[in-house]
Amino acid sequence: MKVYNTLTGQKETFTTLEKNKVKMYVCGPTVYNHIHIGNARPYIIFDTFRRYLEYKGMEVSYVQNFTDVDDRIIQKAQAENVDMKEIADRYIKSILQDADGLNVKRATVHPRVTEEIPEIIEMIQVLIDKNHAYEVEGTVYFDTRSFEGYGHLSKKNQEELEAGARIAVNEKKRHPMDFVLWKPKKEGEPAWASPWGEGRPGWHIECSAMAKKYLGDSIDIHAGGEDLTFPHHENEIAQSEAANGKPFATYWMHNRFLNVDNKKMSKSVGNFFTVKEVAAEFPYEVIRFFMLSAHYRSPINFSRELMESAQSSLDRIKTSVKNMKHFTEHASKDLLTLEEKNQLKEVHTYRRKFEEAMEDDVNTADAISVIFELVKFANTYVQGSSSREFAQILHDEILSLCHILGLLEQSEEDHLEQEIETLIQKREEARKNKDWATSDQIRDQLKSQGILLEDTSAGVRWKRINE
Ligand code: AMP
Ligand code: ZN
Repeated sequence: MKVYNTLTGQKETFTTLEKNKVKMYVCGPTVYNHIHIGNARPYIIFDTFRRYLEYKGMEVSYVQNFTDVDDRIIQKAQAENVDMKEIADRYIKSILQDADGLNVKRATVHPRVTEEIPEIIEMIQVLIDKNHAYEVEGTVYFDTRSFEGYGHLSKKNQEELEAGARIAVNEKKRHPMDFVLWKPKKEGEPAWASPWGEGRPGWHIECSAMAKKYLGDSIDIHAGGEDLTFPHHENEIAQSEAANGKPFATYWMHNRFLNVDNKKMSKSVGNFFTVKEVAAEFPYEVIRFFMLSAHYRSPINFSRELMESAQSSLDRIKTSVKNMKHFTEHASKDLLTLEEKNQLKEVHTYRRKFEEAMEDDVNTADAISVIFELVKFANTYVQGSSSREFAQILHDEILSLCHILGLLEQSEEDHLEQEIETLIQKREEARKNKDWATSDQIRDQLKSQGILLEDTSAGVRWKRINE
């Protein structure tokens, strides 16, 4: 298997530190909002890679953090006059709900920064003791010049690194490139006691500390979106390798960005969509299929037309699976004919091609094309006169390849329930914003689908009208 490694700029043969075990860390979200459709890309892509590794018999330890202390979370908490934890809990719940909808498996561990402060402080102390970090008036900085490989991942030379670095007026760092490991408490903000006074960690140190705690000093894969390469991942390498004295991650994988209508997604341009907004119009499964239909290292464009086209492609696979099922139920003979036995040889070539695509740097786009070739084969050769066994094998084979990608695993009933939950959430949001028109419209829409909402003190319940 080959994967593209940002560290070396090449596709490399994939080998793990320990036989048949994969240690994988994927940077998680800052929990101050619902996730947007761009965030869904790394979630789905790296989940699919994990699933493939598991399919190949590997045991994957998958860690994804939640950044639950951050300026944006604090600001939101202050604006709503609630605890920071309330904001974090709200959006973690929302994010996990989207992840479930998108059929993204839960990580082995989802650590939260606020629950890992002792480990973070310990790592900062080691960096200070090893002369890789220094304290100035309650702020601890990483001394980038003390780490030789700094800039290696992002392939930036000294000049480029310095071009972007600044020392703000009130900062006391020794070099513009140095970055914060610990910052002192500001009035009214959450803080923890530390050897450098009360304060909270900078952003980058959390991933180094959590990767070490849950996976060890050296890991196989570290992944995230391309924007994280610099400075976040560059800084993670510096922290981890300086503290642990060992190579941090063997493979660094980065997905390219998703654009909307060929433009960078942004709230001010008005082309910003949360996963929930998209899921209110298209099933979550279509979002997953859409993301996988492009290779993760190509940019992907998101638009209504492309989503509609993804939906009809996915429907083609589903229809074929339904047809195969129908043929198994109505076949006039049970066992494979000689001719079918011969045709099956071709069926097996599709799985091999599928695996080749996935093993060529997780090329899900090509893997999906192979599924369509198999669907075409099934639609051509399975007919009313086919044996039950032949129809069954093709039915199972299409589903099995889809399952490796995390597709077509849910029943129609699961989909329906998910849709209802999404609409209820949208209605809750509308009600919070006193947007009664939208709230009523959603209630009516659900009613027309036979779903009755009951607003109780414990939240919204729903039931089927004919129950
Ligand atoms: P953030 O909460 O902004 O740190 O993003 C969480 C994850 O989503 C990171 O891995 C980002 O690199 C990734 N990400 C953010 N925006 C996009 C986008 N437009 N397309 C693809 N990935 C993105
Ligand atoms: Zn990280």
